[in-house]
Amino acid sequence: MRVAVIGAGVAGLVCAHRLGEAGHRCDVYERWPGLGGQAATIDVGGHLLERYYHHLFTSDRHITDLYAELGMPEELEWRPSSMAFFLEGRSWPFTTPMHLLRFGPLSPPSRIRMGLAVLRLQKTARDVAPFERMTARDWIRRAMGAQAYEKVWGPLLRGKFGDRADDISMAWLWGKLTMRRKLEGKEARQELLGYPRRSWEPLFGVLGDRIEAAGGRVLVDRPAARLARDGDGFAVLPAAPGSFRRGHDPAAFEPAGETERYDAVVATVPNDVFLGLLDPDLAGAIGRPYLARLESIEYHTALCLLLELDRRFGEYYWTNIADPELPFVGLIEHTNFVEPERYGGRRFLYVANYLDPADELLGLSADELLERYTPGLRKVNPAFDASWVRNRWLHREPAAQPIVTVGYPERIPPLDTGVPGLVLANTTQIYPEDRGTNYAVRLGGDAARELLKSR
Ligand SMILES: Cc1cc2nc3c(=O)[nH]c(=O)nc-3n(C[C@H](O)[C@H](O)[C@H](O)COP(=O)(O)OP(=O)(O)OC[C@H]3O[C@@H](n4cnc5c(N)ncnc54)[C@H](O)[C@@H]3O)c2cc1C
Repeated sequence: MRVAVIGAGVAGLVCAHRLGEAGHRCDVYERWPGLGGQAATIDVGGHLLERYYHHLFTSDRHITDLYAELGMPEELEWRPSSMAFFLEGRSWPFTTPMHLLRFGPLSPPSRIRMGLAVLRLQKTARDVAPFERMTARDWIRRAMGAQAYEKVWGPLLRGKFGDRADDISMAWLWGKLTMRRKLEGKEARQELLGYPRRSWEPLFGVLGDRIEAAGGRVLVDRPAARLARDGDGFAVLPAAPGSFRRGHDPAAFEPAGETERYDAVVATVPNDVFLGLLDPDLAGAIGRPYLARLESIEYHTALCLLLELDRRFGEYYWTNIADPELPFVGLIEHTNFVEPERYGGRRFLYVANYLDPADELLGLSADELLERYTPGLRKVNPAFDASWVRNRWLHREPAAQPIVTVGYPERIPPLDTGVPGLVLANTTQIYPEDRGTNYAVRLGGDAARELLKSR
């Protein structure tokens, strides 16, 4: 088959690689002038670094297996990490059970209750089903107490889901708490996180080479502008290079070049982008019920300011901001995880936010945002001064976080769109786990299998 894969994120690259292994030729269309999608890197002065902070958990088997399978297991390094909560005017370390016992913002009985509730969940709650019909808020208040919700979990959920925080399904938190790190065993004292020693880029390069070796093409800065039926196959209309500057809506792209015909298509783009690509006849063939599922899922936008600093900002790799007065939700100091020597002594801090698509912060430039964030950064580190900033990069990802409310599983679009030969695979289908590169690897393989089943 000749297959068009739309999107060269992890899912698209893995899917095209798997199809290539099965003897099919794939053209991968990508809007961004680089590979990797949400895990794409930028050049930060002779070194590659992800636009958005990235690490792996020790439970991320699909991606570690892929590194091994591609003959590059030594790329992955596992490093100790450090995490803190910022609230009540200071950062509280929060990496070990001992940190929980010393966590000042909660009363001593609340600390114990919270720790026991997590342990009990990790030990006994094997199945997500009982958690699908309740909100995380209700479960936390019942199992851990109101204080744990007010001080810790409520601010965290608000940070990620804004005013939808109280509606988030317990299934989402179940995934976070049970599938990653356990509070007991080898990692109880020091969490290990993974990072590829030369960034995620070598993985994308090797996948791209494999796709091309199987007779395919990897077309970066070459988005799809339109997708239509063509007999029992499909027609992809490509858009002009530079279209990424016009945003994410394919309707805003200028078509360029010949329409290409394919036997099958795998789209790995977000729901709204997929809807925007569809020719009315193809949308009709997919049918209202499927399209309605796509329309029913909301996303929050990631707004990520990456700062190069001339010195260390704080003590921790990851600081969750639980103080509602601060206008950002996380500080991720990459060079407190990977040593700055890797980057010729440069230091990098991500200032993270997840926002409603209408939030006014999304309209600010990097400098305006830095100005807006500076008082908050000073609250965390009173010595901070804007003169520490040597360079800054700002990225926005509109489809960064699907909003997983109660009843979400009924809205998840199946991989099979109902039109033979047309598969959709994106982060909204990662459930009950929270989306991540590990699950994008799994999804890419699932999408290839789904396509081969239908053709
Ligand atoms: C702020 C942030 C932090 C994260 N941190 C982590 C982490 O620590 N660890 C982790 O494992 N994961 C992390 N993730 C999540 C992870 O990056 C994603 O889950 C994963 O990369 C998704 O892969 P994907 O291929 O499904 O989607 P995407 O990466 O979104 O790929 C979709 C691709 O489609 C392209 N596209 C869009 N429109 C078109 C078009 N019209 N034509 C052609 N192509 C198009 C996009 O440019 C993109 O490359 C993070 C994500 C964000 C936003």
